Amino acid sequence: MVADCVFCKISAGEIPAEIIYQDEEMTAFWDHRPAAPVHILIIPNRHMDSLNDASHEDAELIGKLVLKARELAVDQGIDESGYRLFINIGPDGGQTVYHLHLHLMGGRRLPIFHG
Ligand code: AMP
Ligand code: ZN
Repeated sequence: MVADCVFCKISAGEIPAEIIYQDEEMTAFWDHRPAAPVHILIIPNRHMDSLNDASHEDAELIGKLVLKARELAVDQGIDESGYRLFINIGPDGGQTVYHLHLHLMGGRRLPIFHG
């Protein structure tokens, strides 16, 4: 747990969030400024600043985060309509919270992204 990390605090239950899934390795909660009808963040409970901090030992964990995102898409009823999974990394990637997180977004037609 990193002091002053808002997502560490959410996973530890120290600040409130709309948590929809949690186990010993990960936490999923609603983004507090949703950019789509479904906008959920999936984080490892263990702090990593960004994907840049992940190592090969984290491969299984990262795979689990992705598969959990898919499961949540099914739960939200957007698996057939489609959804987007993405990770922002660093300043140019638009990362604002420096605790690795996946965005799960869907429930409307998302714009095609051209970078
Ligand atoms: P990123 O730009 O990829 O770092 O995304 C950070 C996301 O975290 C943004 O979509 C924010 O709306 C969201 N966010 C920041 N603080 C909180 C919070 N306390 N609870 C829920 N979502 C948050
Ligand atoms: Zn953290």
